[in-house]
Amino acid sequence: MLSFWENNSLSKYDFVVVGAGIMGCSVAYELRQKYPTSSIVVLERGVFPTGASTKNAGFMCYGSPTEILHDIDLLGEQKAIEIVWQRFEGLKILTERFGIDKMDATNFGGNELIIGDKLPILSQDKIDYLNTVLLPIFKFPVFSDFSTKVSEYGFSNAVKQLLFCAMEKQIDSGKLMTHYWKLLQEKNIQIITGANVKNIQGNILYLNNDATGDFVIAAEKIVLCTNAFINELVPEMPVKPGRGQVIITNEIENLPFKGSFHFDEGFYYFRNVGKRVLFGGARNLDFETEQTTAFEANAKIINHLIDKLKEIILPNTNFEIEHYWQGIMGFSNNKLPIVMPLNSCTKYVMSCNGMGVALSPFVAKIAVNGM
Ligand SMILES: Cc1cc2nc3c(=O)[nH]c(=O)nc-3n(C[C@H](O)[C@H](O)[C@H](O)COP(=O)(O)OP(=O)(O)OC[C@H]3O[C@@H](n4cnc5c(N)ncnc54)[C@H](O)[C@@H]3O)c2cc1C
Repeated sequence: MLSFWENNSLSKYDFVVVGAGIMGCSVAYELRQKYPTSSIVVLERGVFPTGASTKNAGFMCYGSPTEILHDIDLLGEQKAIEIVWQRFEGLKILTERFGIDKMDATNFGGNELIIGDKLPILSQDKIDYLNTVLLPIFKFPVFSDFSTKVSEYGFSNAVKQLLFCAMEKQIDSGKLMTHYWKLLQEKNIQIITGANVKNIQGNILYLNNDATGDFVIAAEKIVLCTNAFINELVPEMPVKPGRGQVIITNEIENLPFKGSFHFDEGFYYFRNVGKRVLFGGARNLDFETEQTTAFEANAKIINHLIDKLKEIILPNTNFEIEHYWQGIMGFSNNKLPIVMPLNSCTKYVMSCNGMGVALSPFVAKIAVNGM
């Protein structure tokens, strides 16, 4: 049971944000900008953010050429370009907020690999078309064909084409989130970890913690930024979890490439982290098993990633896998972010679909605008 003091000082807030990942932090930050004197708390059930934000690959990306073309087919040119613009704006906000150093951002660019016969080589006409429609955002032709680099990078000759995006960067997600939490504290926003929200009724949140037991917190407004875990609190939400398996190698002397890379419609992604290679994805190999919020290794996928690393990415290099982990993404039905009022005091906000680093700061602004 909470004490008299805890009840008086720690259990009532103007704003409660649930989830201290990049979205929860971005929402709390925007709330402080709009409401300089309000009481704001972020409730996080993990010791760290425990979903995607400190488990991801750390790509600051806008979408690969084939993905943007696919989105144009699916959503129309205007909507697809708008999504790229949202990512651009989100990454601009993030960079203004933290600078290069606090995220350890490196500017090696991003690449899409066209491998085997699954996807056709992208014609120069298609690349020119994309560069033209994206010109208002990037102000220069952002994609180019870098296929001559394939052998220099040491990839196998299964790689048929390499499409380069000069704007993409790579960050250290652990550093970014450490600095985000510090920034919130400087802005007089409280973060309570180990605070597992079990239920919400009206403006009352029912929580549990192993040490504290059951307790409640009251809020004027509640913003749920629990990403893929939303169905635990609001079962009918149209959000599906997608688990991502990630592996990282030992340090490799003379690693022949730097930057971020993705292939097979973004289902596979890899990058250098210093002299190491981080490689993740292949959810499509075992889709149903990976539609889960459970943090568990999938041996089938991990072995497959190791095979791809040997066959395609590092065919001429000895390496060892030093570490592996999982993160949980949230997916909406239509690939678009969600800003959804659930009732007069509660809102759900999700940037989703494996692009939260880029989208969260932008989507948070929209969410808080309407509050
Ligand atoms: C393997 C992997 C690779 C990725 N790579 C990239 C990338 O390179 N670039 C990119 O832009 N995006 C990437 N993403 C996606 C990106 O990481 C996410 O879109 C983003 O982190 C989502 O942030 P979030 O704050 O919405 O969710 P999360 O980071 O999942 O945060 C949700 C938080 O809510 C907390 N929570 C949940 N339920 C409760 C509860 N009941 N009570 C209290 N707290 C609760 C969780 O503990 C968690 O900390 C990747 C994701 C994964 C998994």
